[in-house]
Amino acid sequence: MAKHIFVTGGVVSSLGKGITAASMGHLLKARGYKVTMQKADPYLNVDPGTMSPFQHGEVFVTDDGHEGDLDLGHYERFIDESLSRESNFTAGAIYQSLITRERRGDYLGGTVQVIPHMTNAIKDRLTRIVEQSGADIVITEIGGTVGDIESLPFIEAARQFKMSKQHGDVLFVHVTLVPYIAAAHEVKTKPTQHSVKELRSIGVQPDFIVCRSDHEIEQGVREKIALFCDVKVDNVLSCVDETSIYKVPLNLHEQDFDTKVLDALGLEAKPIDISDWRDYNDKMDKLADKPVNIAIVGKYVSLPDAYLSIMEALIHASVFHGRKIQTHLIDGEQLVESELDKTLGIMDGILVPGGFGKRAFEGKITAINYARTNNIPFLGICLGLQAAVCEFARNVVGMKDATSGEFAEEIKEAGGGEIEFPVVDLMPQQEDIDNMGGTMRLGSYPCKVAEQTHAMAAYGEPVIYERHRHRYEVNNVFREKLCEAGLVVSGISPDERLVEMIELKDHPWFVACQGHPEFKSRPTRCHPLFRDFVGASITHCGS
Ligand code: GLN
Repeated sequence: MAKHIFVTGGVVSSLGKGITAASMGHLLKARGYKVTMQKADPYLNVDPGTMSPFQHGEVFVTDDGHEGDLDLGHYERFIDESLSRESNFTAGAIYQSLITRERRGDYLGGTVQVIPHMTNAIKDRLTRIVEQSGADIVITEIGGTVGDIESLPFIEAARQFKMSKQHGDVLFVHVTLVPYIAAAHEVKTKPTQHSVKELRSIGVQPDFIVCRSDHEIEQGVREKIALFCDVKVDNVLSCVDETSIYKVPLNLHEQDFDTKVLDALGLEAKPIDISDWRDYNDKMDKLADKPVNIAIVGKYVSLPDAYLSIMEALIHASVFHGRKIQTHLIDGEQLVESELDKTLGIMDGILVPGGFGKRAFEGKITAINYARTNNIPFLGICLGLQAAVCEFARNVVGMKDATSGEFAEEIKEAGGGEIEFPVVDLMPQQEDIDNMGGTMRLGSYPCKVAEQTHAMAAYGEPVIYERHRHRYEVNNVFREKLCEAGLVVSGISPDERLVEMIELKDHPWFVACQGHPEFKSRPTRCHPLFRDFVGASITHCGS
């Protein structure tokens, strides 16, 4: 029988509810329990796959190819488990399944309603993940803020779910903001009181309250919150802003959060070992000062969350090497050809991340050209690989204006005619499918790694797996020409049809991959490509 913990948020969004939930997951796993996590998102998009990174941040991809909420990335990094599509569902997905059934006549003419049909469908998702994962404890984060209209069915489903279980099988953890009012020199509990009141008005009494604040929450404040919110004072925890998100589990552990939660669930508090996590945090506090400068030349730079997993993977690699990294988010569109020595010349490494659409693509090509010709370590990811192939085709092989078939329409509309060298394109069998999302290569795919390459030096294994999310591939029509000119295909699909990784020989470290290695980096096990990219950047930077 699995135990369930629901995590709700109060007062404002962006509270770090996902980090709190993930930290709890980390501690409970470290106590010897099999933990899985799930995010229930109240918005109406069926999944975040088509949502703009400017609005929603990065789309996180699971092994089984679900395009999910970025909190899934935090979950995976904190509990070190690979999640699946069961770990994320939206109101849109629930509605879609209900409406499909309704149209099919499955309800035999009955009225289909939020209660019980939608709430039942949500409860199904709560039990399905237990069956699929075999977890002892499922942590379900309910997106949004208590009081939102759209999250009501989710909280109601959680309430019903608790009702159907034994005492101690289901807990509610409410994460709220306790703001500091400078003029009064004190933190204020009223917003928390109101948000708990709101939660209680829909039938949910929290078992724990985690107070997010930029100031320590003193005992007196906890007592006040406990009294007004009808929660044990020991179950009011303080979660003060930390210098790193990876410190949150340690902070919560110091307040015995894990033992208190296990006690409330009626589970034994088995011995805990979080020494590797402590070591990681200790190392992070002692990074050598001289920073390594790494440019991320992309398109979605105004919202750093758009590159969240890349940022985290760079941090993991930085801690691995014990060296501080200064990241510079550069909009590819803003790169000025005559100023490259000033903008890119000061960089120790250049990373071109994934992306969609033509905007900023030329800037990415410029940045890659600069990295290639100036021996600056380069890591290209997905569109970054595609851009690197285009750059090589144009400037080494002489294929004028070589580009990706992804931009064919736009180029035509701008009067550019047909692309002469589509060195990146749809694979022939994809060409007739135009349903957005339908043609994507999504999820984990194997890749054979070539001997005596940077890729092999990094992975050290003949077959590796990375997660993909793209439509276009290196065009095999041009592969031979590119390779003859010196492009090294260092990773390839087992059937040798798909180019998975490329690199260059006469360059300190120039590697690009079609998959997204950032999704698999973990704090205590940084991804080998990020490790070696940062390693090469450190060499470039000097000690
Ligand atoms: N837009 C490119 C494609 O669809 C790359 C996608 C990506 O970088 N994730 O193939």
